[in-house]
Amino acid sequence: MIIKNGKIITWETPNQILEGYAIKISDGIISEIIPENEINPSEGEEIIDARSQYIMPGNICAHTHFYGAFSRGMGVVGKPPSGFPEILSQLWWRLDRAIYKNDITLSSEVCLIDAIRHGTTTLIDHHASPEFIEGSLDVIAETVINAGVRASLCYEVTDRCGQNGMMQGIEENVRFMNYLKQHPNNRLAALFGLHAGLTLSNETLAMCKEKAPADSGFHVHVAEHSIDEYESLQKYGMRVVDRLDKFGILNNKSILAHAVHIDAYEMELIKMRGSWVSHQPRSNMNNAVGVADVDSMLRLEIPVCLGNDGFSNSMWDEWKSAYLVHKLWHRDPRKMPADEIATMAIYNNGRLASQMFNNKLGIIEPGAEADLIFVEYKPYTDVTIGNLPWHIVFGFRESMITSTMVAGKFLMKDRELLTLDEDKIMAEAKTASKSVWQRYSNLEE
Ligand SMILES: [Zn+2]
Repeated sequence: MIIKNGKIITWETPNQILEGYAIKISDGIISEIIPENEINPSEGEEIIDARSQYIMPGNICAHTHFYGAFSRGMGVVGKPPSGFPEILSQLWWRLDRAIYKNDITLSSEVCLIDAIRHGTTTLIDHHASPEFIEGSLDVIAETVINAGVRASLCYEVTDRCGQNGMMQGIEENVRFMNYLKQHPNNRLAALFGLHAGLTLSNETLAMCKEKAPADSGFHVHVAEHSIDEYESLQKYGMRVVDRLDKFGILNNKSILAHAVHIDAYEMELIKMRGSWVSHQPRSNMNNAVGVADVDSMLRLEIPVCLGNDGFSNSMWDEWKSAYLVHKLWHRDPRKMPADEIATMAIYNNGRLASQMFNNKLGIIEPGAEADLIFVEYKPYTDVTIGNLPWHIVFGFRESMITSTMVAGKFLMKDRELLTLDEDKIMAEAKTASKSVWQRYSNLEE
């Protein structure tokens, strides 16, 4: 396949915007980027006319929760939660218990439709469904394969569902990781999921480390709210990151989500271990937990990535929120310039995904996976390498994404979804979500 007549944003280092070049794709990989006047299509090669749209690598999401999809529009039981611990107990730790097998399929599918429509081609999910643990990652994996995107999956181990639930969570991670080793798929990856320090005893952490395959990365929420730090200090006499490190959870594959309340020493520890941090500003604002000190972490060269925590799967919305919230939080308009967001969302997310999927992702260059989006952006001011991140914050809209491709295959072309039946899935999700809401409100505390 040859894609011509596009403006190619390569997101190399340094970045380039190429005009008059064509992208040649074979076997799902970008094989060449050639001047358009040198195109000499061989027989059977398909030529795609990008009609002057921008072509860029698909967006990557470093932390999300497909299972949370049915929370949209749902009333939370009880008094309005006054803080994050109540949001957990009243909303998430009830909702996940109301989700059964079919709901896992549908909540994943609606998220993947959202992702494909809005140009997110690789997602790192963190799953919980205490009433259906064993096999839950297979259910999600099947939707990922059918949808055509890439995803890394894990099951969140926690002590809040008893010894049995905890053990099942461990087994599900180990089972799925071993399965992928025996049946590798270039669109699936796995991490070992952990909820957060505050719901994991020392015994559980030790068992997770012991049972996890030797080269596992862990995916865990860290100091999202200050309670995680204070409980850790009170119960174990050490801060969250110190404690996770003591149990061998930090390594160069592990993702620590949020890290809002970590201190300088914890940052140093994360840097030393080479772990990734994912930043989710929309979620942090929504839960009113504070704003992570991304500035300092990036200055320490901690690879901070951008996730969405189950908010919409349009990553540019996350860009915009990051851009705004750090300015307001610090009362300083110099904070979080758009190129710093590109460092997280493009370069760090790209490196994280490339490491996970064992190939180059998030970049357009020969040898990289052909995960591309077409963006119908018609700028009325110059777009340059220097100001592109600000164009993304102020000008780019997800509605401008017309086509999404993963591994050289269109999942959406000219706004038409090609792998998923949107109307059918939405109708089924509507029915299923009603039952989930019913079960959610009938549950005991
Ligand atoms: Zn999360």
